[in-house]
Amino acid sequence: MKPPPFEYFVPASVEEALTLLGEHREQAKVLAGGQSLVPLMNFRLARPRYLIDLNGIPELVGIREEDGWLAIGAMTRQRAVERSALVRDRCPLLAEAMPQVGHVQIRNRGTIGGSLAHADPAAELPAIVAALGGQLVVRGPDGERVMAPERFFVGYLTTALQPFELLVGVRLPARRSRTGHAFVEVSRRHGDFALVGVAAALTLDGAGACTDAVIALTGVGPTPVVAAAATRVLVGQRPSTEAFQEVGRRVSETLEPDSDLHASSEYRKHLAGVLTRRALTRAAERARGGEG
Ligand SMILES: Cc1cc2nc3c(=O)[nH]c(=O)nc-3n(C[C@H](O)[C@H](O)[C@H](O)COP(=O)(O)OP(=O)(O)OC[C@H]3O[C@@H](n4cnc5c(N)ncnc54)[C@H](O)[C@@H]3O)c2cc1C
Repeated sequence: MKPPPFEYFVPASVEEALTLLGEHREQAKVLAGGQSLVPLMNFRLARPRYLIDLNGIPELVGIREEDGWLAIGAMTRQRAVERSALVRDRCPLLAEAMPQVGHVQIRNRGTIGGSLAHADPAAELPAIVAALGGQLVVRGPDGERVMAPERFFVGYLTTALQPFELLVGVRLPARRSRTGHAFVEVSRRHGDFALVGVAAALTLDGAGACTDAVIALTGVGPTPVVAAAATRVLVGQRPSTEAFQEVGRRVSETLEPDSDLHASSEYRKHLAGVLTRRALTRAAERARGGEG
């Protein structure tokens, strides 16, 4: 199928893109990597009258360190993030998750901002941003606002972005010492969306006790799920198989994932428990080894 006709714009700056969005609002869509939007247009599930291509805006591309944060422009390709030495060093959790996003061909075009704005409930990147306590940087006609993931992701394929706003980038806290990260997922085939994915971050003190632990899950709800209550039991304890099993059990208990063609709710709950234990175990090993 081919999309219905549309008028096509290639603005050269964020300001120009915002002016076009302001003029056309709900009738317009921005185009990033096109890996989700173009199939939707071809199936006529999306019918924008105006398509605003962000590929001519260099200021939206780049990865840099800023006051202890890693700042990534919305139009930075997923493959560039995957291959970045800075990302590997400062944000190993993101580096570990990137190869799980579709296939290389998709990551060559797909962007960080496109994945976050699309907000697929099984996507990896929203869960990574949630696990790390990242910030989403949004620009509109009145300037910039910075949003926490729990405010930005509001439901299935839905974010708090207004039709006249752009996601201009994401900021992720740079790795802290004695913190280990891990991302694990199960999908039917490599490159498929995850049935369930778990992102974990765990921090130890000098004596080896846990001072902070967080996990965020993808594929188990309409938005990323941060299991804060379940991981709180780890604080003050030395990491152990039993403790991680207990967290996995609690996580599994609290979730109510949907059943679909790919997996039943019960199977997803079970997977969430198993993957939580695996992710925490790997994160603790890395925290001890100083590997990140
Ligand atoms: C076969 C296949 C397998 C895939 N597997 C996975 C997977 O395993 N995991 C995964 O996470 N993803 C997967 N994807 C999706 C892929 O990662 C896409 O690249 C991503 O979802 C969208 O990014 P994009 O840059 O292509 O955005 P586009 O498709 O161009 O845009 C997606 C949506 O976001 C909006 N948008 C884009 N950029 C902005 C912005 N800066 N500000 C505001 N709105 C914006 C667009 O208007 C559109 O509504 C897969 C895709 C395919 C085709």
